[in-house]
Amino acid sequence: MHAYDPNNIFAKILRGELPCYKVYEDDRAFAFLDIMPRAPGHTLVLPKAPARNILDCPADDLAHVAKVTQKIAQAAMKVFAADGITVQQFNEGAGGQVVFHLHVHIIPRKAGVMMKPPASEKEKPDVLAELAKKLAAAIAAS
Ligand code: AMP
Repeated sequence: MHAYDPNNIFAKILRGELPCYKVYEDDRAFAFLDIMPRAPGHTLVLPKAPARNILDCPADDLAHVAKVTQKIAQAAMKVFAADGITVQQFNEGAGGQVVFHLHVHIIPRKAGVMMKPPASEKEKPDVLAELAKKLAAAIAAS
């Protein structure tokens, strides 16, 4: 396995060098909307500490990411009137990983609606901004 690359795109977002549609932040985790959502409200949760994926992430950071994943999934069910949530997480290229800072996908689902293929379509900035605002408010209120 390769070493962690501090210039990966999510590391740049965590350092504030690139913009994102933030929905949640605490001392150890950060969450923002996926810009090519597989369904409306598709969110990514990351540990702040450098970790390529679950294979090199300290267990405590991984456990914290799981707690935040649950918190966001619960809020997303309400705010997007979802019927379910798909959680995905990929490790190394062979495991489907494209960006090499650990992240968990939270994808709100409607009954009978297929997810779009991965990275198929960039969502409009105003749509992402509105969804992020709604989800951030629901998480803050939870
Ligand atoms: P994966 O590493 O396979 O989990 O895929 C990386 C995910 O990051 C894909 O769903 C992309 O749509 C998403 N993505 C890539 N660049 C950005 C970005 N700048 N902001 C938000 N999401 C991104």
